[in-house]
Amino acid sequence: MLVAVDSGVRVLALGAPRNGDYRCPACNEPVIVKQGYIKVHHFAHKRGSACPFAAKESAEHLKAKNFMARLFKNLGYHVDAEVDLELPMWADKEDRRADVLVTNQAGKRLAIEVQNTQVGISNLLARTRDYARLDTAVMWLPVLKMNAVITHDENGLLVQKYTQHAMETWMLDFIFSKTMPYYDASKDAIWMATRLPHRIEKESKEWYDSDGNYNSSAGYLYTSKRWIDLSLRGPFGSSQLKPVLKFRRASTFRNLPFPSATYATLVPLLS
Ligand SMILES: [Zn+2]
Repeated sequence: MLVAVDSGVRVLALGAPRNGDYRCPACNEPVIVKQGYIKVHHFAHKRGSACPFAAKESAEHLKAKNFMARLFKNLGYHVDAEVDLELPMWADKEDRRADVLVTNQAGKRLAIEVQNTQVGISNLLARTRDYARLDTAVMWLPVLKMNAVITHDENGLLVQKYTQHAMETWMLDFIFSKTMPYYDASKDAIWMATRLPHRIEKESKEWYDSDGNYNSSAGYLYTSKRWIDLSLRGPFGSSQLKPVLKFRRASTFRNLPFPSATYATLVPLLS
């Protein structure tokens, strides 16, 4: 986890002094700050703790949260992490914990949700609705899985035969875009990934049938239904990006529902 409480104050592991009296916000047990050049900054429970916060979290997820915390801290936002939201009675009963919650000078809140495993659309939809009801903007940040063929192109990298899951397609449609940021844990950086169709070449053929007649078919390109290509621009560090916030109305697209909400995405700063 990224947050502990020291003398009643929530503290981020990022840059926290080693000698604090840190306690878990959920169970109040003492926790230890873990920092290091390679290690992701975080707080850890003592071995054998039964606290739900002590459950192992992937390093990718922790790193992504730290990255976003750093980015918004640099921009002067108030940054908190792993915040349980004060849900009204009528909200979905599921647990709502914002990965990173940032607040600007005017008191406007933005929740950043890092997604490194696939979740269903209904889950994204319910969480987005709850944030909207709480007057909190939302940013969905998928973690890039390099599970495809990677080549260089003029912008950076091209990931071919990428399997874009329904969750990622929904996130793109939510922000009316073909480009969105992906977090790359191996580089601790963000790539701006643009969705492109993946073309498959069907080769031309010539053959003789059983009666000895000549046959031929011309080659052609068709668009894969299974894969896409991702053009990756970057990688961008936390000081090379800024957030953009926009409001969208509810709609249905590709038969999927989208709530009205304020959403955020990242754009590279012009250098
Ligand atoms: Zn705990």
